[in-house]
Amino acid sequence: MATVVIIGGGAAGAPAARSLSKKLHPGQRVILIEKEETVINPAVFPLYAVGKRKRGHLSRSRSRLTRRGVKLITGEVQKIDAAKKRVYIHEGEISYDLLLIAAGAVPDRSQPPGAADAAIDLQSLEGVEKLRALLPHFGGAEIAIIVPSTGIKCPAAPYEYALLLENWFQRRGRSRDISITIYTPEEAPLSLFGKRVSETVAGLLLKRRIRVHPAARISKIDGAEKTAVLDGNRFPFDLLLFYAPVMAPPFIEKSGLGDEEGWVRTDPGTMALPGEDSIFAAGDITRIETPSGAPLPKLGAIAHLQSFVAAGNIARLIRGRRPGRTYSGFTG
Ligand SMILES: Cc1cc2nc3c(=O)[nH]c(=O)nc-3n(C[C@H](O)[C@H](O)[C@H](O)COP(=O)(O)OP(=O)(O)OC[C@H]3O[C@@H](n4cnc5c(N)ncnc54)[C@H](O)[C@@H]3O)c2cc1C
Repeated sequence: MATVVIIGGGAAGAPAARSLSKKLHPGQRVILIEKEETVINPAVFPLYAVGKRKRGHLSRSRSRLTRRGVKLITGEVQKIDAAKKRVYIHEGEISYDLLLIAAGAVPDRSQPPGAADAAIDLQSLEGVEKLRALLPHFGGAEIAIIVPSTGIKCPAAPYEYALLLENWFQRRGRSRDISITIYTPEEAPLSLFGKRVSETVAGLLLKRRIRVHPAARISKIDGAEKTAVLDGNRFPFDLLLFYAPVMAPPFIEKSGLGDEEGWVRTDPGTMALPGEDSIFAAGDITRIETPSGAPLPKLGAIAHLQSFVAAGNIARLIRGRRPGRTYSGFTG
């Protein structure tokens, strides 16, 4: 019996499991290991924060997987043993013939010091619930959005939050009383997507009077004083929103599968791990370089496309064929 194990049931893992379950024959099975009982889609957070989406829009359906015969295991992967073809969770071990790693990326809230305590976390459900509840009662004027590093998920999300918040206040006739500033290490908004995109976004922000502090490396947040410290200067805020950079889940390093920064280097065409004939990866956990040398952005749209390439190649290997499907290199 051929067993395909998928780690992670998010934007890459869930569609890969669905796609594979349609391709496999009797005697072949797909096991999806996911640490959360309910998988949340963070791409909906900005709209949810401003009341444009309901709670039900946030979670991904599990029944679509189980209906298709995918075996779901709720558990947190601790380690992969590539030589023995085994995945370890607290409850035991699971053997695989082929493995897809789709465990995403986790926020690293350690920098800048003070931010995690003083700010609302824009990447956690708890933080977004807090922001949604707070908005109608917000009596302050200065809203600061802090982006400490360019190594973030969905580089557009901090700007999306800013625009939606401005719109929220505008609809209530309060936008003139509110000042929104984004502190970002980028030289210009979304410069990684090229000049045209960057200028369009900058123009949009200017029109809405949203300020951008570019090339900003905030060194510290002083929660008691309600200020952000940058190059020795202090910038006051009434409400601080924090968009933390991300890192790879720690089990990748423990398994010896990470690069120097912990990410899984993946063949940009087949989505296989170089040198591993039975392991594939897709989504935020991968590191694929674009022709400019910059890493591919961490986007659900990219994760989704990569998952179909990985699933297609896994199905081909099971049928005794060589990987043939290739990722187009779409960058979002
Ligand atoms: C606020 C916000 C807004 C965004 N907006 C957009 C957008 O508009 N468009 C867009 O394309 N992208 C957007 N993104 C990015 C998008 O959400 C991610 O790029 C996408 O979810 C990545 O898919 P993934 O499958 O690689 O990871 P995820 O979707 O994060 O899935 C990984 C899964 O693996 C599980 N997992 C992790 N470790 C383990 C383990 N050890 N054992 C078992 N399971 C594990 C996790 O619980 C999770 O369910 C946004 C992100 C954020 C934070």
